[in-house]
Amino acid sequence: MNGKLVDFVGEGKRKDGSTFWVSMNIRIMHQNGKVSGTEGIVRDITERKLAEKEIVWAKDQAEESERKYHELFNEMIDGFAYHEIILDNAGNPTDYIILEVNKAYEKHLNVQGVNVVGQKASTFLSDEELQHWLEIFGAVAISGQSSNYRMYSPKDQKYFEGKAYCPEKGKFAITFSDVTEKELAEKSLIEKEKEYRTLVENLSAGLVVHDASSAITFANIAASQILGLTDDQLTGRSAIDPTWNFRKEDLSIMPVADYPANIVLDTGEPLKDYILGIYRPDLGYIVWVICNGYPVFDSSGKINNVVITFVDITRRKNAEQEVIRAKGMIEESEYRLKLATASGKLGIWDWNLVENTMIWDERMFELYGTTHDTFPNNIDAWINGLHPDDKQMAIDACNAALNGEKDFNTSFRVLHPDGKILHLKADGSIIRDIDGKPLRMIGINKDITETKQAEEALLESEKRIQKKLNNLLSPESDISELALEDIIDTDVIQSLAEDFFRITNIPIVIIDLEGKVLVGKSDSFWKDICLKFHRAHPETLANCIECDTVLTKGTPKGIFKSYLCKNNLWDNATPIIIGGRHLGNLFTGQFFYEGEKPDDEIFREQAVRYGFDEKSYMEAVGRVPIYSREFINNVMAFFIKLSNMISSLSHTNIVLAKVLEQHKQTEKELIKAKERAEEGDRLKSAFLANMSHEIRTPLNSIIGFSELLNDPDYEPEQKTEFTKTIAQNGTNLLVIINDIMDLSMLEARQVKIRKEQFAVKGLLSDLENEFSTKAHKKELKFIVNIPATLENKTIESDYYRLRQVFNNLIGNSIKFTNKGVIEIGFLPIDKGVEFYIKDTGIGIASEFHEEIFERFRQVDETRTRKYGGNGLGLSISKNLVEVLGGKIRIESEPGKGSIFYFTISDN
Ligand code: ADP
Repeated sequence: MNGKLVDFVGEGKRKDGSTFWVSMNIRIMHQNGKVSGTEGIVRDITERKLAEKEIVWAKDQAEESERKYHELFNEMIDGFAYHEIILDNAGNPTDYIILEVNKAYEKHLNVQGVNVVGQKASTFLSDEELQHWLEIFGAVAISGQSSNYRMYSPKDQKYFEGKAYCPEKGKFAITFSDVTEKELAEKSLIEKEKEYRTLVENLSAGLVVHDASSAITFANIAASQILGLTDDQLTGRSAIDPTWNFRKEDLSIMPVADYPANIVLDTGEPLKDYILGIYRPDLGYIVWVICNGYPVFDSSGKINNVVITFVDITRRKNAEQEVIRAKGMIEESEYRLKLATASGKLGIWDWNLVENTMIWDERMFELYGTTHDTFPNNIDAWINGLHPDDKQMAIDACNAALNGEKDFNTSFRVLHPDGKILHLKADGSIIRDIDGKPLRMIGINKDITETKQAEEALLESEKRIQKKLNNLLSPESDISELALEDIIDTDVIQSLAEDFFRITNIPIVIIDLEGKVLVGKSDSFWKDICLKFHRAHPETLANCIECDTVLTKGTPKGIFKSYLCKNNLWDNATPIIIGGRHLGNLFTGQFFYEGEKPDDEIFREQAVRYGFDEKSYMEAVGRVPIYSREFINNVMAFFIKLSNMISSLSHTNIVLAKVLEQHKQTEKELIKAKERAEEGDRLKSAFLANMSHEIRTPLNSIIGFSELLNDPDYEPEQKTEFTKTIAQNGTNLLVIINDIMDLSMLEARQVKIRKEQFAVKGLLSDLENEFSTKAHKKELKFIVNIPATLENKTIESDYYRLRQVFNNLIGNSIKFTNKGVIEIGFLPIDKGVEFYIKDTGIGIASEFHEEIFERFRQVDETRTRKYGGNGLGLSISKNLVEVLGGKIRIESEPGKGSIFYFTISDN
């Protein structure tokens, strides 16, 4: 019997040491219970065995890697999830299922894997979110193309950045990491930058950033404002551009190397408080800035950027200069004042407005008649001194100067405590701060009393002369009121006297009865003794007057008198008699008769007695001429002739002048009379011509119809019609005659005007009452327009005449308007009102605007029938307005209506 089959696998070693495998199937044979032998198959299975081993290893490896993958998968910092996309029939993604998520996924999204794995996205996403993600992930799962995405989880306020990819068609995986911190950091960086930018942009200081080549890469708003350039003009412009036109403090052009950016680039050092001027052609002046600059280095230590900041200090700079200028001005003006006052005896005043302190020099005290003791030390010093009548005017002048309205140069009177009045002229200049506020006022006062008085006297005398001249020339004038001065031509006689003196050495002196020297004013010896001494002392003056009286009183024409006066000098005189009136005398001036000169001793005594300076008195006496009696007789014969000539010439002159003047007046009157007569003639003939023509028409019809009344052929009814026509024409005739009469009276200026005060509103209301019904009958609106502020306006004029003007103008407006509005009203003008009457009627072509104001003028004569009227209304109105002191005018266009305006003055 066969034994059992035994299979086994054995491992053996070859002689070379290598391993081999065999499998054996052996049957052990038994015979009689004993192993009789074996039979079997041995197979070399080394290769198979090796392959098996390989598989086991590979499996181990696979397991190991799976384990590691899971470990990794779960330990990954990035979130991971694996999904399957769900498509609809059309193959469009509709949802997706989450197949697997890692721990990081759970952590990042704050979910439990068990809750989401196996779930459809639609279970926890809103429709909108689902659509959003389907768009991204669907494309990835279908196309196989990876895609990056960003995600914000509002729930946890986290930002994620992820990638979706497609490991297998229809599936997609995502990995994502939490970038919240990064994102927030970026965001805050952007915020910060924005903040800084805003800060820099709005800095009142200018800020400019240059790059290493000095080109501008950034400039803030203030910078472009200060530099006067736009952002575009600035960006890229380099600091080496010479067109910058920068200035140094001394106003010279700044070299390019000294530009702030270039200095920083050159030195690599910060620049501090560097002052520079920027000439601004658009402004026409220099803007001053103070600059600071610093370099910005890159990591290699090279200058990357230069930052320059600058502040506008123009105001400060100008103020500094202003102060310097003002200081200079003060010094200069003080110096000038000193010079001026020294020479002109001027008073100087210096008023500090800030502290209200007043400083006066000594002369000021004299001018105001005050002393240091009563000096108030402020502006009151001046105000108190002003004459009450001039106070306000002077203060106003000062205020006007302080307000910059005009310079301070004025004159006023001051009243001294002792009652003395001086006229002062004041000039002043004001020193102001940069804003124009007055700080100090310095000026001078000058005594102009004498000039003022002389001026007044001159004015007075001019007035007097003028009056006299008028008197003289007026036909009724009486020359007996005239003074010698007004009659004789002193200039001509003066020049004659001078010639005479040159030839004869004898002065001709003409003195009027009041003692006024009219001729002989030239300096000559007699004046010395007479004016400097004898007429300068009351006692010797009395002697002179006595002498004058003796010489001149009652001396008839053609006679001269000689007199030795009590001052011991001779004088001769002959009277000047004009038109029978003794008006003055001709003197030779004082002299001594030859051989009769009194002793010098007498004059020395006189000097002592009257307190004359003896030496100069004796010298004056020595210059008194000495003439022989014969010589004097000849001279006086000449003087008498001269006096007669002066008298008769002057008298003739006056008479001639008067005649001429009368002649002129008569001539003027004649011309006027002639003109009046001519005008009257013209008016009369025009009046008659018009009247006859205008009156004939109605009159003809009156006469015609009146005759018919007597005709038995007509029926009584017809005759009633005739009477109506006659009455109508009679009325027309009356209107025409009235109008013509009115006009004639007006043109002859025969109309009496009775002015009264009345309210304009009342007048217009009366007119409304009168005309509105008439207007309404023609379906015209009638408006009265009174300015709201002038409801109570009154004028002084002739109410009745004014009504007449309105009646004509409103009557015309209604007559010539078929549709629309008639408006009457007024507007204020300088010293009165301007009334207007406005209509929307047929209007008047401009060529008729003047003509229609003439008598009997109508735009279209043929219309007379249509509209009626005689063409006198406007002529009467114009005349009336003019008589009332106003003017009438028209604005009108055919088809558009007319406005008639006329002015009436308040009184
Ligand atoms: P009349 O009696 O003809 O109205 P006026 O002297 O008052 O005489 O006016 C002269 C002419 O001026 C009128 O005939 C008319 O042609 C013109 N006229 C005056 N007022 C008006 C007006 N408001 N609108 C149009 N035309 C006017």
